[in-house]
Formats: sequence, C-alpha cells, structure tokens
Amino acid sequence: MIYETAPAKINLTLDTLYKRDDGYHEVEMIMTTVDLNDRLSFEKREDGEIVIDVEHNFVPSDHRNLAYKAAKLMKDKYNIKDGVTISLEKSIPISAGLAGGSSDAAATFRGLNKLWGINDSLEALSDLSAEIGSDISFCIYGKTALCRGRGEQLTHLPKPPSAWVIIAKPDIGVSTPEIYGALTLEKTSKVLTKECQQALIDGDYERLCKSLGNSLESVTMGLYPEVEKLKNTMTNTGVDAALMSGSGPTVYGFVQKERQAKQVYNALKGCCKDVFIVRLLG
Ligand code: ATP
Repeated sequence: MIYETAPAKINLTLDTLYKRDDGYHEVEMIMTTVDLNDRLSFEKREDGEIVIDVEHNFVPSDHRNLAYKAAKLMKDKYNIKDGVTISLEKSIPISAGLAGGSSDAAATFRGLNKLWGINDSLEALSDLSAEIGSDISFCIYGKTALCRGRGEQLTHLPKPPSAWVIIAKPDIGVSTPEIYGALTLEKTSKVLTKECQQALIDGDYERLCKSLGNSLESVTMGLYPEVEKLKNTMTNTGVDAALMSGSGPTVYGFVQKERQAKQVYNALKGCCKDVFIVRLLG
C-alpha cells in the first residue's frame, strides 16, 4: 500500500492575459501550497481495473474523477497490466478555487509512479499530467511557482515567508468555466506578478502582502456578492492581506501570529461552514 497527501493550493496572484485560439486564456499566476490535505492510498489489483473509493456527495467515483483520469493515463502511457484501488479521503472543499481535484490527480501520478514501479521523474509526470488538467503540473511538485500558459508552464520560486493562513469558503460552489465565461479582459484590474515574484525572492512578507492580486476576483464577486462580503469581513478583522483564490469562491487571509489567526477564525466561523487555519507549505 502506498500513501500520498494532496495539499490545496492558493493563488498569490492570478492574471489573465488574453484569450488563445484554442479557447483557453493565457494566464500568469503565482501559486503556493498550504497544509490542508486530501489523503489518498493506492493498493494494487490483479484484475487490471481502476477503482475509486470515495464517499462524498459531490465527488464522482467513476471515470469523471480526476484521480481516475490520472491512473488511466499512467496505465496507458506506461503500458501497465496491474490495476489499482484508490481510496480518497476529502478534506479540501469542492469547487472552491483550491485545486482539490487537481491535487488528487497529482498525488495519483506520484503514488502510481511508486506502486507500479514506474519511477519516472517528477518533471516527466508534470509534463504528462497537462493532458488532463492545467493545475496538475503545479500540484505534482506542490511548492511555489510562477505558472504560465494554461498554468502548466512552471518556474519554481522560493517558498513564502512563514505566515498563518485563514481559509474561508462561502457555502456556494463556483465553476471555473462559468467565471472565465463572464470575464471581460478590458475590465480586469492590474496584477502585480513581478512585485510578488520579487517579494518571494527577497523573503519580504510586507511586500508580499501588498502584491497579492487576482483578476478573476471582481468577476466572481460580480456574480456572487457573498464573496465580496466575506473578503470585507476578513479584511475588517485586521488580516495583513486578503484575496480570493483561483476562480473562487474561497477567500484567504494572512497573519503572522497564531493568536491573531484564531481571532480571525472565530470571526468567520459564523459566516461559513468551511473555515480553516493552515500554514504555508510552499
Ligand atoms: P480549481 O481550483 O483547479 O479550479 P476547484 O477547487 O475549483 O479546482 P475541484 O474541487 O478540484 O474544483 O473540482 C471541481 C469539479 O471536479 C467538481 O465538480 C467535482 O465533481 C469534480 N471532480 C473530479 N474529481 C475530483 C476530485 N478528485 N476531487 C474533487 N472534485 C473532483
């Protein structure tokens, strides 16, 4: 049996540059990893089947599960006869902007690389994974990176200075295609990718806080006012910075002291079901 954890990601920045001929948006974003984890285990099957064992109302256990897609791609690419039972314990909220499904897929690439004795490099797995999703390449490493293209072209960056992160998800799910569909590029706010990158290189917490930005934030907030309300509530608790992650609706905030993190947590616990205090892993 092989075990893997699948950590959530947050966006420090997300900039949408232009719409490509293939229909995707060219993005530039800096993502990092937090210690909010799904847990996966992998057990070999002699019958060659891929079986997903997950108990969650909103997570499919068939070929639509991203862990299934990852396993199928590995099996075909490396010509593997064995099968696998993948048991999936979800803690990352669904349709949240935290890349839960992508991280499960990434953990599956890493887990099967060991279980099936493939032993390919993380770089090769990261390249392969782009066939089934844009954020999986980042999640294979689970560190901090500048991600370009659809998100699959990575430049690794230093990990952020240490901080407590309060993560809160309003009780709604947001679909990424819906938000990109409503995006008007001319109306997006400027995102300080370079400044954020430099803040990471310098290990400068204050500059990092000032450089956070997400051009999808106003789009999601326009459709779901509860996201803006949540961000305002979080900002009013005195966090050093707050931002929506990915296409939302999750909002996160940074503080440096644990006591402060608990105060923010208590202030938000009343407004949403999913509130977590985590550390940056990046
Ligand atoms: P991203 O930040 O990459 O946009 P997300 O956090 O918004 O991701 P996910 O929770 O990863 O969204 O998944 C969104 C959809 O994918 C859901 O409709 C869910 O049913 C489906 N899905 C497929 N596989 C998984 C998985 N392993 N875990 C969670 N959702 C999955």
